[in-house]
Amino acid sequence: MRKKIAAGNWKMNTDLSSGIDLATAINKLDDFTADFIILCPPATHLQTIASLTSNNDRLHIAAQNLAATEKGAYTGEVSASMIKSTGASHVLVGHSERRALFNEGEDVLKAKITQAFNQQLKVIFCLGEPLDIREAGSHEVYVQTQLQNGLFHLTENDFDNIIIAYEPIWAIGTGVTASPEQAESMHAFIRNCLKEHYNAELAATTSILYGGSVQPGNAQAIFGQANVDGGLVGGASLDADSFSAICRSFS
Ligand code: PEP
Repeated sequence: MRKKIAAGNWKMNTDLSSGIDLATAINKLDDFTADFIILCPPATHLQTIASLTSNNDRLHIAAQNLAATEKGAYTGEVSASMIKSTGASHVLVGHSERRALFNEGEDVLKAKITQAFNQQLKVIFCLGEPLDIREAGSHEVYVQTQLQNGLFHLTENDFDNIIIAYEPIWAIGTGVTASPEQAESMHAFIRNCLKEHYNAELAATTSILYGGSVQPGNAQAIFGQANVDGGLVGGASLDADSFSAICRSFS
C-alpha cells in the first residue's frame, strides 16, 4: 500500500555506540509526518537497533544488503534468514553503490529479491541513471530497462512487498539534488511503467521514494510532488536533527 516513508541509509557509518544514540533519538520522535520511518544501519547493528525500536510500530529496520544465496560457504556474507532473525523487516536491493562498486548485475539482484521474499523481508529496490545518461536524455529508457530487468518478473502480489527508490546517481552524495520537477517527472514515468506492465491499482499503491542529496531544506518541496512518496536519505540521515526535520517534511 502506498505510504509516506522517510528511510535513512547510514551506509558504512557509525560504530555500535553512535548508531544506538542515533536510533534512540529517532525512536523518540513523536511529531513526524511520514507514515513510517525506516532505518538502514550497518549489519552489525541490526539486532541491537531492531530490539531497541521494537516497541515502535512506525519505525522499521532494514538491512543495506543481503546474500544472493540461502546459506553455505560464502565467507563474509549475511543471509536473508540471518537478517530476518535480527528483527529487521526490510532490505535494500540494487543500491547504485552495490551495483557499481560490487558489480551486482541484474541476475544477482533478482536472486537477492528471491532470498528476501523467501524470508518475508520487504525489498526497497533502488534504481536510477548516471549523469551521462541524463545528459543524453536517455534517462527514462534507462530506468524502464532497470524496471524490466530487475522487477518485472515479479507477480502483482509480490509488489505488496516492494518499495521503489528512484536515485539518480548524479545526485547521490554529491550535494546536487534533482529538482522537484525532475523527481516528479521520473516518478510519474515509473508509475506509468507499473501501470502499463501490471495495472492502474498496482501503480497507484506502490510507494516510490526519491533519493539523492535530500536535506531538511529541500525535503518538503520534493515530498510535496504528487508521485513522490518520500525519500531514501544518505548523508543527512546520520544527523538526528537533520533526519528528524526530514521526517517532519510531509504534508
Ligand atoms: C543514498 O545513499 O541512497 C543517498 C541518497 O545518499 P545521499 O542522501 O547522501 O545523497
